[in-house]
Amino acid sequence: MTQKRNTAGTPLTGRIVVPGNPSYNAARMEYNRRFSKFPRIIVFCQRTQDVINAVKWARERGVRFRVRSGRHSYEGFSSVNGGLIIDVSEMNSVKVDRKNMVAHIQTGNPLARVYRKLWNKRLALPGGTAPDVGIAGLTLGGGIGLLSRKYGLTCDNLKQVKMVVASGRRGAKPIIANEKKHSDLLWASRGGGGGNFGIATEYTFRVRPIQNVSIYSITWKWRDLEKVFPAWQRWAPAVTNRLTSTIEVAAKQVGTIVSTGQLLGSGEELRRFIQPLLQTGNPVKVMVRTVPFIEATQFFAQGDLNLEPKFKITGAFGFKPLPREGVRVIRDFLSHAPNQHSTVWCQSLGGAGSAVSRISPTATAYPHRKAETVYELSARWRNDGEQQRNIQWVTRFRKALRPFVKGDYVNFPDLQIKNWPKAYYGVNVNRLKRVKRKYDPHNVFRFAQSIPVGKKSRQ
Ligand SMILES: Cc1cc2nc3c(=O)[nH]c(=O)nc-3n(C[C@H](O)[C@H](O)[C@H](O)COP(=O)(O)OP(=O)(O)OC[C@H]3O[C@@H](n4cnc5c(N)ncnc54)[C@H](O)[C@@H]3O)c2cc1C
Repeated sequence: MTQKRNTAGTPLTGRIVVPGNPSYNAARMEYNRRFSKFPRIIVFCQRTQDVINAVKWARERGVRFRVRSGRHSYEGFSSVNGGLIIDVSEMNSVKVDRKNMVAHIQTGNPLARVYRKLWNKRLALPGGTAPDVGIAGLTLGGGIGLLSRKYGLTCDNLKQVKMVVASGRRGAKPIIANEKKHSDLLWASRGGGGGNFGIATEYTFRVRPIQNVSIYSITWKWRDLEKVFPAWQRWAPAVTNRLTSTIEVAAKQVGTIVSTGQLLGSGEELRRFIQPLLQTGNPVKVMVRTVPFIEATQFFAQGDLNLEPKFKITGAFGFKPLPREGVRVIRDFLSHAPNQHSTVWCQSLGGAGSAVSRISPTATAYPHRKAETVYELSARWRNDGEQQRNIQWVTRFRKALRPFVKGDYVNFPDLQIKNWPKAYYGVNVNRLKRVKRKYDPHNVFRFAQSIPVGKKSRQ
């Protein structure tokens, strides 16, 4: 453990990395290599007191700071040039209380570690697919994945959060938010987005028993796009809530459409459920398997490995299937994609008894409850010279699809969206601002798209 004490005042405690240290370069890197920021100090906190000290240290000196866990922010929101990064990734204990079916999970855990620790007790938490996404950012923004339709978003399973918030003019203190105490902060932590109110250090989640699940993958050629995409969009929200599925249309150069999904049920049942898809177009590859849940998480993680290092992604929600003109927009854009790494991806969320859409849009900060699907439009590249073309393509694509879809998921943030508070938070914008004013009146926790402290939203 090291300490950094400038003059008098709170010391910075934890593992401290500064420019010139051999580990500085690795410590400053973000998942999205489009960003390459040079912080003045990175503090890897080991305990809550290190987090408190870091916030105080920064406030006492007027140093700007950002909060970081899994580093997966699409727009580089967890890093800062010339400031302090408060990183919680070395706070990663997972404690299971089987009697009460809850798990106490420190916010430095990546998803793969959460899944593994819970699987050891044959338990699961609904979460996302990429193994190294942080449980911290995932939960605060919502948390969608292959158990969503049955068990809800990750944030719907959040019962309690321990958070270090600003206190007075220069201080910081830990508080616990649950249904009884600071329930407004718990509400805001269920979809209000990372980095807005304080630094979450520990979550308490409801967990579920799990054993085997059945998974599928179906591949079609591009010529089936007009048949397959609408068929999936009608089928995915209508099928049992035990089945959550995805569809990804690759750029025309690649020429494939792939749908995958996971059923809490047998392989035989799954084969029956996917019949409508198998009877659409001409599937060229079909896989159906029953596997232990932990293997299913590894199967879905594969899609997030070996991707190009730089990317621009935007998101949206579908409240009904795309009409023919909407599918034509997808065809046009993916026919003229900047390279073979551009895709459109969708996951089912709502419909037939879905746990996501059973909750009211105002019951948690995540407002997109009635959406049937979530979209991701993405472009990836390697060399900086390709950046502008890729970003422009995503921006134009978003605009062209706008008549058919709505909003954006705060965990797929996009700096190009002008009225982002409305897009991310919909009906909940003003309530989130009230929570912000209560817990962070001096706007200590801020970044390019943090919730403003101002009274009125720009709606
Ligand atoms: C490859 C890939 C796959 C993905 N798959 C999914 C998926 O399946 N489902 C899904 O829902 N999302 C998915 N996402 C999006 C993901 O949920 C967001 O990127 C999320 O914000 C990442 O959280 P993080 O902790 O890894 O990132 P970070 O960059 O560390 O943090 C993200 C935001 O949260 C803030 N933050 C971080 N730690 C804390 C903390 N302890 N307290 C308060 N604020 C904090 C940061 O300041 C930043 O604003 C994926 C992203 C990527 C890149």
